Parts: sequence; structure tokens; C-alpha cells
Amino acid sequence: MAIRKIVYEGDEMLTKKCRKVDKFDERLHELLDDMKETMYKFGGVGLAAPQVGILRRVAVVDAGDGFAEMVNPEIVESSGEQMGKEGCMSCPGQWGITLRPMIVKVQAQNRFGEKTEICGRALKARALCHEIDHLDGILFKSRVVSGNVKL
Ligand code: ZN
Repeated sequence: MAIRKIVYEGDEMLTKKCRKVDKFDERLHELLDDMKETMYKFGGVGLAAPQVGILRRVAVVDAGDGFAEMVNPEIVESSGEQMGKEGCMSCPGQWGITLRPMIVKVQAQNRFGEKTEICGRALKARALCHEIDHLDGILFKSRVVSGNVKL
């Protein structure tokens, strides 16, 4: 495993829509392992592949209830709402209040291509939405209603 270099705001990599993963091979496994290590190293709640310069639909999260990895994730259900503070490893020092669903259900694949389902509530729901946004080239800043972000 290795720590990957973080891509920061201003890099066009973060504004691109990522492509679906169709090969569940050793390279994907290495990417997932590296992303996990990188997320923990920087103390993030989640990390998406474009944040390490890979334009593929891959993300990892740990909102304090255990590690989860997702390949080709999609939000299939969401309910309720929450207003809360949000930040991003690619936008250091910036934060803002965003509106997110309180509960989301995500369908994804694991590293072997098998179907998985991840449910998140509160912080985890926020993290899932935030990371899946990254895969569509959307930064949390575009959802901020107040805070210190530079828009
Ligand atoms: Zn982020």
C-alpha cells in the first residue's frame, strides 16, 4: 500500500465526470488499498478516486462506524434532510454548511464486482453523498449555503 498524492481544488481533474469501472483487477485492488491508507493518513471521512487523480467511479468512506469501499456506487434511495458542516480533503481549511439527506441507500459493487448495498445515516449519509458527488465532478462548495468557502 502507498499514500497517494491528493489533487487539490483548482485542478480540472476534480470537475470531470468519472467513468465506470469494468475491470475488477489487481490495479483496482491496489487503488482501493491506497485510497484507504491515504484517507486515514489525512484523517478524512471519505475519499474519491478523482481526489487521487484517477477518473474512475471508486470511493472509500469511514464515518466512524467502519470502513467501506464502493465501486460504481449509486444512490438509490434517500430520505429526510440534515444541515451540517462539511469540508473536503481537496479544499483544505475551507468548510461550509450544506443540506444533505439524513438517510441514503447506495448500491455499488465491491472490489470483485459483486453487488453490495451500503446504508448511511447522519454523518455517513453526508459522506456517501459527498464522495458520490466527486465522481460526477461536483465539489461540496457548490452545495454550501453558508461558511468560509471561496466560491
Ligand atoms: Zn471531498
